[in-house]
Amino acid sequence: MAKLLIIGCGGVAQVAISKCCQNSDVFEEIMIASRTVSKCEAMKEKLQNTTKTVIKTAQIDADDVEALTKLIKDYAPTAVLNVALPYQDLTIMDACLAAGVDYIDTANYEPEDIDDPAWRAVYDKRCKDLGFSAYFDYSWQWAYEDKFKEAGLTALLGTGFDPGVTSVFAAYAKKHYFDEIHTIDILDCNGGDHGYPFATNFNPEINLREVSAPGSYMENGKWIEIPAMSIKREYDFDGVGKKDMYLLHHEEIEALGRNMPEVKRIRFFMTFGQSYLTHMKCLENVGMLSTTPINYNGQEIVPIQFLKALLPDPASLGPRTVGKTNIGCIFTGIKDGKERSIYIYNVCDHQECYKEVGSQAISYTTGVPAMIGAMMVVTGQWKQPGVFTTDEFDPDPYMEALNKWGLPWQVVENPVLVD
Ligand code: NDP
Repeated sequence: MAKLLIIGCGGVAQVAISKCCQNSDVFEEIMIASRTVSKCEAMKEKLQNTTKTVIKTAQIDADDVEALTKLIKDYAPTAVLNVALPYQDLTIMDACLAAGVDYIDTANYEPEDIDDPAWRAVYDKRCKDLGFSAYFDYSWQWAYEDKFKEAGLTALLGTGFDPGVTSVFAAYAKKHYFDEIHTIDILDCNGGDHGYPFATNFNPEINLREVSAPGSYMENGKWIEIPAMSIKREYDFDGVGKKDMYLLHHEEIEALGRNMPEVKRIRFFMTFGQSYLTHMKCLENVGMLSTTPINYNGQEIVPIQFLKALLPDPASLGPRTVGKTNIGCIFTGIKDGKERSIYIYNVCDHQECYKEVGSQAISYTTGVPAMIGAMMVVTGQWKQPGVFTTDEFDPDPYMEALNKWGLPWQVVENPVLVD
């Protein structure tokens, strides 16, 4: 029986909260704490008569380590689930250490202010040393390894779908299907249609930063960086059909590259429609994706934050999105001396998700694994002192939980490979 403090109450958090409330045997009590407390109260109002889980709420600015430490100490949860933004990863980890509580998140750290000179100096060195230029990377959180180890606490990083489930798929493939994995292609297909000319399926600022960055992949332990959207393939996805997909940099490549060094090549592809790409390019060209504040009529505004205010709230896309997602990994390698290839994937239907929890499938496919990751930690199944990604534990209980909690997966032998 566990008490979970959930930080954030946006699209992903709302699914994680709903799922914890379906799983009252594990989550006896939750506290929803976020910047805008009215959202937490609305979730409590919506769910409290449908669940045995006791729901509490609190207002918190997770950038304020002192206030957050006090909240954690007062509430005394079994663990903290961070489903706020990647900007808060380090402050929430600091507060967890100060209060002596396990930590779980869904995305690795990136700074809100990429013009901060102290961060820039580290970033510039990393770009030069490692060869990829994304603003987010694991180094900041892996640097907490000793602190969590010494405190006897677990930090589980990146338990969404990708990263998260995709890395569990990799651990599962390694455990049950291969003696040696040679290549991993992670394919993220969203065949959903929300009817808007342009909207993002999760936080616009985080999403647009990720997608407009140069792509990169890992080959023989080295990063290879390419201009944004310059590698394109077509793939025929089960449940969706043929879609164009583009090679992107993605955070699980970094963790898999470190933890499975025997894998010769790791790539990540995501599908995009032409309308999305044209809008994004145009917004980028006019400076609307910039994170550098400008002065407008005496007021300082950050262009991408202003754009976020104009775009539909991802949490509001649920009722209008139809179609399916298909996210998974294609593995090639050797088993018993013979070449083998398998594809492990999940197909998720936007409208089914909406009927169940009131959210579209992108929030659903992230929020369910967030709950499952938290469950793995609070039940002790994935509890070890230190900082871990999801490929570092026994994948079997997590894979079982995916089937039980709404993200069933399948394994297909000899899939069509991506060239
Ligand atoms: P949203 O923008 O919808 O929600 C973010 C929530 O965090 C909001 O409730 C916001 O409060 C709150 N928040 C922001 N800053 C603070 C702060 N300083 N203190 C307290 N609360 C704060 O984002 P999403 O739900 O779309 O995304 C949540 C996380 O999930 C992100 O880290 C994202 O990167 C990650 N993600 C991971 C995926 C994966 O597969 N691994 C896929 C998709 C997302 P307010 O309501 O006041 O704005």
